[in-house]
Amino acid sequence: MDFSFTEEQQMIRDMSRKFADDVVMPRAEELEKTGEYPYDILAQMADLGMMGIPFPENYGGSGGDWTGMHLCIEELSRGDATLGALLDVTTSVVAQELYEFGTEEQKQKWLIPMAQGKEIGAFGLTEPGAGSDAGATKTTAQLNGDEWVINGTKQFITNIGLDTASIVIITARTKSTEERKRDQINTYIVPKGTQGFTLGKRYDKMSWQHSATHECIFEDCRIPRGYFLGKEGRGFAQHLAVLQTGRISIAAMSVGLAQACFEASLKYAKERVQFGQPIYNFQGVSFKIADMAMNIELARNMYLKACWLKDNNMPHVLEAAYAKLFASEMCEKVASDAYQIHGGYGFMNEYAVSRYYKGCKILQIVEGTSEVQRMVISRNLG
Ligand SMILES: Cc1cc2nc3c(=O)[nH]c(=O)nc-3n(C[C@H](O)[C@H](O)[C@H](O)COP(=O)(O)OP(=O)(O)OC[C@H]3O[C@@H](n4cnc5c(N)ncnc54)[C@H](O)[C@@H]3O)c2cc1C
Repeated sequence: MDFSFTEEQQMIRDMSRKFADDVVMPRAEELEKTGEYPYDILAQMADLGMMGIPFPENYGGSGGDWTGMHLCIEELSRGDATLGALLDVTTSVVAQELYEFGTEEQKQKWLIPMAQGKEIGAFGLTEPGAGSDAGATKTTAQLNGDEWVINGTKQFITNIGLDTASIVIITARTKSTEERKRDQINTYIVPKGTQGFTLGKRYDKMSWQHSATHECIFEDCRIPRGYFLGKEGRGFAQHLAVLQTGRISIAAMSVGLAQACFEASLKYAKERVQFGQPIYNFQGVSFKIADMAMNIELARNMYLKACWLKDNNMPHVLEAAYAKLFASEMCEKVASDAYQIHGGYGFMNEYAVSRYYKGCKILQIVEGTSEVQRMVISRNLG
């Protein structure tokens, strides 16, 4: 068994870590406060090739692998988890769906600019009545001549509010909305700006203020027949296949955010003096930090194993769900302990741990809640 990184993976990790330290971390607090979208940071990420790491060069990528991609997501999330979310949705889900299931024309039109970071992607699975039960999709797509006519609403859609977001890939039913058959769900590419496609209000969120989350409304929205993505009757399965990678990405984000909590706690505990000595000298504090370090390392190994399986074209349904579930729950515990170690200062916005605490819970919700991960795991245990 070989736990070492390749030269390229190490290079991506170092580059992403430096970028997070120099560019991302110093801006994170201000962006969370103002809610401004960080277009300048996204442009730098594009220049560094971060959105296209796992795709071949002829599709705008750098010919790397999913391990390198997730090392990048971890490091960026240590600086600002919303950037990890942006990469997860754009690269792990949308660009991968285009790469795996798109026609050559679709890849040329949308994958290449996305892998180059010039455009950002969004996916729309969730609806007001279809969250964990994503197969309950009510959005419809009817073929009318050479066009698909789409009607329905998708909610909580990440990235779509960015000016640089080019498309949303949605799931929709081709037949009766009363039937629940999953083979009647297909996927469609809807470019932003298409007539009949409007964005609902920007959500007022607990955290992640500068992540562009909106409702997507489709009213007699017409797209060309050629914007159908993948195989007829396989849309739901296609989407679930790429969401496995999304789960690995949420695990990597959780590890990055937990690492930030750990680093802040270690520093603070060594500086803060009570009872005449640094609080790190008290086992009640240092043992919490020891547990943080151990659990972060365990979660990191879990997402890296899932990446290794994916890079080697081996099944990884279980490993992706294990990693997402463990890492996101671990991150909440670590963020809570980091807050505890900071005492009353942890409640103050000027300390990063208050932002970390507000931003950790969502990782147990997106790309399948913790309960959904347990359903996936228990169903796959034989
Ligand atoms: C910030 C943010 C960004 C998001 N980005 C996107 C995006 O880009 N694209 C997209 O499509 N979606 C996105 N989502 C939606 C997200 O994936 C859903 O919120 C999530 O899947 C849960 O669905 P729900 O909110 O409808 O909760 P529900 O499904 O209503 O679940 C409510 C609770 O019931 C539990 N539950 C439900 N069914 C079961 C069951 N069978 N057994 C046990 N417990 C169960 C759930 O685990 C949860 O605890 C985003 C959400 C947020 C908040």
